[in-house]
Amino acid sequence: MDLSHSPTTLADWQTLAASLEFERRAFVDGQFVDAASGETFATINPATGDVLAQVASCDQADADQAVKVAREAFDKGAWSRMAPAKRKQVLLKLADLMQTHKNELALLDTLDMGKPINSALGDLSGAIGCMRYQAELIDKLYGEVAPTGEDSLALVLREPLGVVASIVPWNFPLMMTAWKIAPALAAGNSVILKPSEKSPLSALRLAELAQEAGIPRGVFQVLPGFGHTVGKALALSMEVDCLAFTGSTGVGKLLTQYAGQSNLKRLYLECGGKSPNIVFADCKDLERVAQHAAAAIFHNQGEVCIAGSRLLVENTIRATFVDKVLAAVASMQPGDPLDPDSFMGAIVDDTQYQRILGYIRRGVEEGATLRAGGEGQSDSGLFIAPTVFDDVTDEMAIGREEIFGPVLSVFGFDTEEQAIAMANDSDYGLAAGLWSQDIDRVMRVTRRLQSGQVFVNNWAGGDQSVPFGGVKQSGNGRDKSHHSLEEYSSLKSVWIALS
Ligand code: NAD
Repeated sequence: MDLSHSPTTLADWQTLAASLEFERRAFVDGQFVDAASGETFATINPATGDVLAQVASCDQADADQAVKVAREAFDKGAWSRMAPAKRKQVLLKLADLMQTHKNELALLDTLDMGKPINSALGDLSGAIGCMRYQAELIDKLYGEVAPTGEDSLALVLREPLGVVASIVPWNFPLMMTAWKIAPALAAGNSVILKPSEKSPLSALRLAELAQEAGIPRGVFQVLPGFGHTVGKALALSMEVDCLAFTGSTGVGKLLTQYAGQSNLKRLYLECGGKSPNIVFADCKDLERVAQHAAAAIFHNQGEVCIAGSRLLVENTIRATFVDKVLAAVASMQPGDPLDPDSFMGAIVDDTQYQRILGYIRRGVEEGATLRAGGEGQSDSGLFIAPTVFDDVTDEMAIGREEIFGPVLSVFGFDTEEQAIAMANDSDYGLAAGLWSQDIDRVMRVTRRLQSGQVFVNNWAGGDQSVPFGGVKQSGNGRDKSHHSLEEYSSLKSVWIALS
């Protein structure tokens, strides 16, 4: 089926969706196979409730087999010892194939987890850009000659780690995947990907493309299944050298235990957030800032790790500013994810839907002022209106906990010092936003924010050349840029005695 032309309307996307075929099996040792147990699980389109496919539910036996194959492939060296310039060519070919099949891949993510199709296309641009960037980087990194005396030569070599397991979430299925697998593969590792059980389909299609691009057998494998089964098996494996994780802080803590209980594998965590977005009264264009503040939380239905879920507004402008946010929210209502005009789509599944509505009920009970939204609609799919609470305080659950849904909590502050204290009063430290025209203030506040990234007069700006990651309980890893490539390699020091 040709999905390469550009669909532009809801009807176009519906037609393409109806003709899609799904790969349902795991990809192990260069072949698509059923789970060893024969078990499957249903993956569901949350916008319709339809079962899209029964997907192989991998477990310990599949993990063991994939790890064995990955280790053998690594030791044989077809990929791990391939010249970096050749690995680059293969990964660039994979990027080209992803570009050719961009519409299909985006559609798989939209159907699987409910995000609007235009958002999914944006994710694909990010995923392809990441693949190209890491591919291009790998043959431009040099080792070192250390500055020792003349009686010796000390080399510092950079080597791949071995077997890397990547466990990823469902909110940006292919983009999070690319952020992990592109640097890990570029560095020469064998990679086993475990997609979320809520969005496995695009990862399985990616496996086909990786094979077509020429990634050798056993170097890239995909194991769909649940976290507590196949995810846990990979995390506890004695033969996995590195675990690269994106997901919740709770699961990140479990993985830390698993690494300690097994082989002290390297562990990189990209976890949750409750990001503050601080608006000072000196902002120039409040309407524009309000538009961005609303998009910062309602983009991707609020199912975003860096969602600007805590809006901290200087009290002198709070009433006016919140009105402007409410005006912006009016145009951000959820709609059919296949409609290119929808700003928000469906909530990923019923568990997440009920969880978000539970937080909304708690917000009302705890005394916050509900200014917009608050309702869900689950007749034919799972949708929640963009919800805004004002008068939120630090003690309220909606003010502290990651909701991972379209719920904005607005706080007021009087002084810069108070804003910084409120922003930092969180277990998380993933992102922070800051809106002000005063450059002195911008630099003062930026330096004191406990956050992996700070967005000044924007939200979610970034580039492949800029690392992405958190501090505190938001994790320790850095995706993107040359820093992510460093995570998937180790330094070997070679001391050569010269006479
Ligand atoms: P999750 O932690 O429930 O699941 C993430 C992945 O871990 C899934 O593949 C899941 O199957 C697996 N998993 C679950 N339990 C496991 C276990 N015991 N052992 C091994 N693997 C296990 O998270 P989610 O609901 O998929 O995603 C939402 C979370 O991800 C949010 O907290 C969000 O903030 C975070 N996130 C963070 C970033 C970032 O870059 N920091 C990016 C996207 C999402």
